[in-house]
Amino acid sequence: TASPVRNSTAALQAADARHHLHPFTDHAGLAAKGARVVTRAEGVRLWDSEGKSLLDGMSGLWCVNVGYGRADLAEVAKRQLLELPYYNTFFQTTHPPVVALSEKLASIAPAGMDLVTFAGSGSEANDSIAKLVRYFWNLQGKPRKKTIISRNYAYHGVTMQAASLSGLTAMHPQFDLPLPGVVHVEAPYWYAHGGDLSPDEFGLKAARAVERKILELGPETVGAFIGEPIQGAGGVIIPPATYWPEIMRICRQYDVLVIADEVICGFGRTGNWFGSQTFGIQPDFMTMAKGLTSGYIPMAGIMMGGRVAETFRSAGEEIVHGFTYSGHPVAAAVAVRNIEIMEEESLVAKAGGEIGAYFQDQLRGLADHRLVGEVRGVGMIAAIELVEHKPSRAFFDPKRNVGTQCRNHCFANGLVMRACRDVMVLAPPLSISKTEIDELVGLAAQCIELTA
Ligand code: PLP
Repeated sequence: TASPVRNSTAALQAADARHHLHPFTDHAGLAAKGARVVTRAEGVRLWDSEGKSLLDGMSGLWCVNVGYGRADLAEVAKRQLLELPYYNTFFQTTHPPVVALSEKLASIAPAGMDLVTFAGSGSEANDSIAKLVRYFWNLQGKPRKKTIISRNYAYHGVTMQAASLSGLTAMHPQFDLPLPGVVHVEAPYWYAHGGDLSPDEFGLKAARAVERKILELGPETVGAFIGEPIQGAGGVIIPPATYWPEIMRICRQYDVLVIADEVICGFGRTGNWFGSQTFGIQPDFMTMAKGLTSGYIPMAGIMMGGRVAETFRSAGEEIVHGFTYSGHPVAAAVAVRNIEIMEEESLVAKAGGEIGAYFQDQLRGLADHRLVGEVRGVGMIAAIELVEHKPSRAFFDPKRNVGTQCRNHCFANGLVMRACRDVMVLAPPLSISKTEIDELVGLAAQCIELTA
């Protein structure tokens, strides 16, 4: 039988509430008010089932880097679906789109990163990383070197391992996590934890928390350090300039692998192809997803270089890992075209240049507002930290849900701006124009004024 025709928002909302358990959502609360039904998108704008538009300041979930409505990506997907909709990359087969993508990624990645394997999501990529770290050290004959150091406020995904790596504490108790083998140290979150230290002093202090943890556990037991170049869902935490170079020094000194989670920072967000290039990180592994296909189709990648790549290339045995959809041909074809669009339109250079600078400058204009403790950001990612008392950096009582209030004002007034606690975060498509940035910042200002 044909699906019922739904011609009213209320009917869609009722069926949704009855049959669909949403991620990261209080189901009862949502069922009571009904989900907003988003029906189409173009450029930087979404439209809902009532015909109202929203400027998407979040690129969906930090992923639609080239903006919505790219007919090119649809055409590439259609062509690939007709030519070879699926074949795997297991057991000694490959196909042209996955070869083209692997080569393309090696050409834009930081120097030396030239080997990639694929997954379906950022969580799967980070889950795979935890296995690959174990496998690497097993191949090196150092089977005790297994603990992974992560950080408070980290978000690495939701599978058992990725949620364990995550340092947002709300992610653990419902599921009896974290799993053993993961430890968390302080984040380079100067505004909240820097006290009287300058950002540079605090960056060194936060990095040295990693060194202390390595020494406490014993370097012979620590396999890797994982970090997002900028911590995204934790509240767009921009590390002080001293942080990553010191992390690199420490990890090299104690022979600890460095994993850069580029799921948000990758594909131009910080003004370079990868956040590692912006922050002086020379990772052993990078995970990526989201901007890889601009979210048009699910895909993730795990890149490796140097001795890690050489160790796996020369292992001389089957690597017993991989997903049915690793390197899916349609996703790979879309990813290649997505990267080409970024190149043709100089979207990465614009994020690191004129458009990124304009976005950051306009947002800095909000810093004088009585509720705004700090505006921070790099390229096309930014945060507006709302506080109760600016001089003392006193945060609001979390029970007041000030960030959520602000987010709801935005949502009602035509802007998607997300709240991570009381930190309002923005990551619009890299294709946004200056006029659209003006509109975004104007709406953000208006909604902060309506808050608290
Ligand atoms: N890593 C980071 C830095 C992320 O921001 C996310 C998702 O937001 C993930 C990993 C998980 O990716 P996914 O939701 O595709 O599993």
